[in-house]
Amino acid sequence: MEIKITKTTNKGTLPEASTLGFGKVFTDHMFIMDYSQDKGWQNARIVPFQRLSIHPASTVLHYGSEIFEGLKAYRTKDGSVQLFRPLENIKRLNRSAERMCLPTIPEEDALEALKTFIKVEEDWVPSKEGTSLYIRPFMFGNDETLGVHAVKNATFVIITSPVGSYYKEGINPVKIMIEDEDVRAVRGGTGEAKCGGNYAASNRAGQRAEEKGYSQVLWLDGVERKYIEEVGAMNVMFKINGKVVTPKLVGSILPGITRKSIIEILKTEGYEVEERLLSVDELIEALENGTLEEAYGCGTAAVVSPIGELAYKGKKYSINNGKIGSLTQYLYDTLTGIQWGNVEDKFGWIEKL
Ligand SMILES: *Cc1c(COP(=O)(O)O)cnc(C)c1O
Repeated sequence: MEIKITKTTNKGTLPEASTLGFGKVFTDHMFIMDYSQDKGWQNARIVPFQRLSIHPASTVLHYGSEIFEGLKAYRTKDGSVQLFRPLENIKRLNRSAERMCLPTIPEEDALEALKTFIKVEEDWVPSKEGTSLYIRPFMFGNDETLGVHAVKNATFVIITSPVGSYYKEGINPVKIMIEDEDVRAVRGGTGEAKCGGNYAASNRAGQRAEEKGYSQVLWLDGVERKYIEEVGAMNVMFKINGKVVTPKLVGSILPGITRKSIIEILKTEGYEVEERLLSVDELIEALENGTLEEAYGCGTAAVVSPIGELAYKGKKYSINNGKIGSLTQYLYDTLTGIQWGNVEDKFGWIEKL
């Protein structure tokens, strides 16, 4: 694939690490390529970061044809830059594309686009502990018509944003509310695709939870409102009676790369991991009889996010006295250790730039 590179004449500077936050600052350039049914993917280019110009009838604005990915570039102690399982993100992007009738991208082209672009933006990868360069590839349907059909034109873009440490004041367990009104996804719907619409549909519950003093919601399945699915926009795992239990991927759950990696680490360490249906009743029983030892969400942004309290039907349950559990801490240390190059990568997950 040929990528045309046009460098900016107005280079910005990486802000001080403590001011970074998440997704507020963008780097100097962006990657773009266009798709049309007749010509396929074409015009791959890296250009100065700029606004997109799209037709007011563009498919994405009316019918929500949009998918995205999220991964990070990490700066190691020796100053080099590395990615964590980028091919997994590319494979998932293509699975999301298939679900949403958007065009797929040959894996090797997507990886080349990603690596070429990150090389151009390499100076933007921060080096302070816990910081990284967040990479946001996304694709949208871009037909200039209001007719409803699978799109014939699409645009693929990659933007990057230096992000601060997720845990500035140490890892504090969060309070989570079990949501029994809204649902995030149903089997056969778009839950296993990483598409913007899933987020639009889950904002209401998240907002209501925040108003009640909770960080996020724990989603139940959309049919029976009985089985645990995810926590906010993260996968969820529980340590019950020494075993790790996580909802199995039944079609309404996003197949997280952090989830997959944690399962591989746990199995290598000899832990029993059960990917299965887990009902809210079983969870409440485990909370009441004291067998629920630890609970945490997992995803690229936070890596792991311990859950210190769960609320359900007006009752509050504390987990591990509201403190991070030892397994949760171990998983955080191991995964972040591999990502920042401080722990040996026994799994072959790291891709150097
Ligand atoms: C992205 C995402 C996750 C986590 O996936 P990772 O690949 O681990 O970052 C989990 N749930 C939802 C809904 C997501 O969008």
